[in-house]
Amino acid sequence: MDPEEFRRAGHAAVDWIADYWATLGQRPVTSHDPPGALAAALPTGPTAQGEPVEALLADLDTLVAPRLTHWQHPSFFGYFPANISGPSVLGDLISSGLGVQGMLWATSPACTELETVVLDWLAGLLDLPQRFRSTGSGGGVIQDSASSATLVATLAALHRASGGRWRDTGIDRRYRAYTSSQGHSSIEKAARIAGLGLDGVRVIDVDPETLAMRPDALREAIRADLAAGDVPAIVVATIGTTSTTAIDPLPEIGAICAELGVWLHVDAAYAGAAAVCPELRWSHVGLEYADSYCFDPHKWLLTGFDCDAFWVADRGELIEALTVLPEYLHNAATETGAVIDYRDWQVPLGRRFRALKLWFVLRWYGVEGLRTHIRSGVALADRFADRVQADDRFALAAPHPFSLVCFRLAAGDEASAELLSRVNATGRVFLTHTRVAGRYTLRLAVGSPLTTQAHVDEAWELLSEAVEKLPASHE
Ligand code: PLP
Repeated sequence: MDPEEFRRAGHAAVDWIADYWATLGQRPVTSHDPPGALAAALPTGPTAQGEPVEALLADLDTLVAPRLTHWQHPSFFGYFPANISGPSVLGDLISSGLGVQGMLWATSPACTELETVVLDWLAGLLDLPQRFRSTGSGGGVIQDSASSATLVATLAALHRASGGRWRDTGIDRRYRAYTSSQGHSSIEKAARIAGLGLDGVRVIDVDPETLAMRPDALREAIRADLAAGDVPAIVVATIGTTSTTAIDPLPEIGAICAELGVWLHVDAAYAGAAAVCPELRWSHVGLEYADSYCFDPHKWLLTGFDCDAFWVADRGELIEALTVLPEYLHNAATETGAVIDYRDWQVPLGRRFRALKLWFVLRWYGVEGLRTHIRSGVALADRFADRVQADDRFALAAPHPFSLVCFRLAAGDEASAELLSRVNATGRVFLTHTRVAGRYTLRLAVGSPLTTQAHVDEAWELLSEAVEKLPASHE
């Protein structure tokens, strides 16, 4: 494909995306085709001769798009949002077109420097503690996911807890990680990859009302491990847990970590974006204790997957933990010690120019545009929660500080599960579920920039009508 062919095909592809976005609201949110439907519709191999891009776009229309779950649909309320935006897609497109590799500063200086600057901007936008800024001892880096951020934090924490021996000796003692029973599954996965073993993660109880980690239980668990000769390595606290957006009490947890010398990683994968709004920063109080922090702009800050923003307070520890410098990567700039080589801040060596899409998003929306997006999600969630609260067939299952509402039917678990299945079967909305204190709970997460009051109201009406039609056995 020469540049002129690319220009023509590229315009057609961008038109295709714009048409897709413009018609999203008219599509069913999810596909109801059985497994294997797309595979059965595809040929057994590629054609012998190349095909024009029009043929590909036509197949996207007829074969692929109807079998997607439309995450950008205005009535997609499942999981957490994975929202995108025009500027993010354009930044990503240009990153692909540039095709640069940012593993070292020397392999593409602007790729590294823009990332450092954009992460400092983002730290300012969220009002993160100064110690995370690259101008001090810390700094930010883009990881592919919050899961990778937790893994990298765990490795740096092991490096510290072992007094630097872990790099050579591996896991030679019983190192422990701590998180609440509401912590994300990636914490257990990180501990498993790091070799902490079956009981490497201590699961700390939560307060039954707030579902936030109990600091007294954390202290007790760490003390018990210390008494047994184990090595507490890392506490992962969460701002905005996956099930219900509970917020762990960072001031108390942080003080315990500081007193007992344990690395504190704060996982704010979804809810971190809320801190762009000054009135939501109460959720980040106590963050000054954290050794590392991450959130996913690819969840609620209009930046396409993959983009996790990860900061450390002491970049030296992270780099020492992860650096490996083979001969073929030696270069003069690295040797000066004056540049950042992001290969030392992550698991893979290679890395894309992901800062571009974040830069595009920050500049296109500006601070106020981003705040408007977050505030809209919170206001729509509040509106929905008010409906739930005012209807005695329903009950809220947890506080809703951000844009997620957890609720259930008073009639019980079976009725709630049946309700979810019925509203999702309409194709007009998509919600998911969790369990809160063992009880089946529906989750409505607002996040798409296309979602308006009308979409949230429609979701409520569909739920409300579906309850009327539930079989009597569910009442
Ligand atoms: N942490 C929390 C609190 C989450 O809610 C999620 C995903 O929803 C993750 C981590 C994992 O995010 P990622 O897909 O970026 O690894």
